[in-house]
Amino acid sequence: MAQHFLLSSQARTLNIIKIAQMTEKQAETYFRKVRWANTNGKPVCPKCGSLEHYNLKGRSVWKCKNCYKQFSITSGTLFAAHKLPLKTYLLAIALFTNEAKGMSALKMSRDLNVQYKTAFVLLHKFREALLETRDETPMDGIVEMDGAYVNGYVRPKNNINDRIDRRLAKHQNSNKRCIIVVRQRNDGSTELVGSKRTLTYVLHNENTQDILKIANNSIQKGTEIHTDEANAYDTLHAKYNMKRVDHSVEYYNQDTKACSNQAESYFARFRRFQEGQIHKMGNLYILNYANEMAYREDTRRMSNGDIFNDISSKCMKSLQSNEWTAYWQGNHRISERLGVAA
Ligand SMILES: [Zn+2]
Repeated sequence: MAQHFLLSSQARTLNIIKIAQMTEKQAETYFRKVRWANTNGKPVCPKCGSLEHYNLKGRSVWKCKNCYKQFSITSGTLFAAHKLPLKTYLLAIALFTNEAKGMSALKMSRDLNVQYKTAFVLLHKFREALLETRDETPMDGIVEMDGAYVNGYVRPKNNINDRIDRRLAKHQNSNKRCIIVVRQRNDGSTELVGSKRTLTYVLHNENTQDILKIANNSIQKGTEIHTDEANAYDTLHAKYNMKRVDHSVEYYNQDTKACSNQAESYFARFRRFQEGQIHKMGNLYILNYANEMAYREDTRRMSNGDIFNDISSKCMKSLQSNEWTAYWQGNHRISERLGVAA
């Protein structure tokens, strides 16, 4: 029997020990090569794109000869105005890369010996980089769609006489949200197994109108969509080639070949993340968490070295985070992000 990819040496190309032994200069060289990949690390002015600059003495700060803008290795990126050594950020990305089912901020704070607040913001910056750079090109081929609820739990009262009917709409938890996953199956054009690309959205509930909006945004007309029997998807029959599977009867329909197991396996990973790592999930961040797990599903057959490079370059591409800058000082501007435009 062939060895599982994750057990092979090709899957392990990231060396945390080497990163830990880097000098700050080496960490900077890495950041430069990732940020200015096209010029092999030679600084490019973020304002005007000029390659000519003065090197300000003793610091890794440059001044553009064309527009006189001063810039550093991290200006305009997610790590702008960084407070920690660059090497610490590389270690953080490496640790984040290796946690296949996500990472808690407490673990990050212990591993890096930084405050919990620092670790919390750092993890959310990574998630934001993944979300901002996600590929939202409408999918084709075969797509699977499904929804799952989060934050809807209502704890039953201790005494039976105090208990309410938790199935009634008026007794539902108002924080309840629905994550919708849209996965394009692999058509053999890449080495990825199972799914090619995964997009996630957050809704108040699984309703016809929003499901149609999501499909319009993320799936090309005429695409084959596999989903379960939930009523919210009925509206898609007019535009798409729908395959429905009744989960109360079976997971795979022999006649129609309808099957949404890829969507289900996404939720399996998401639940492990939710229950095993983050426990409590603020509604403000559900989309970020959901997208992190989508990224991990899509990259699960890449080597950890490739994932590390990919996340690093996404962090360097993302504009300075408005949402997470000075978060604990209360200057943040975070609002609940749902998957589709309201
Ligand atoms: Zn310039």
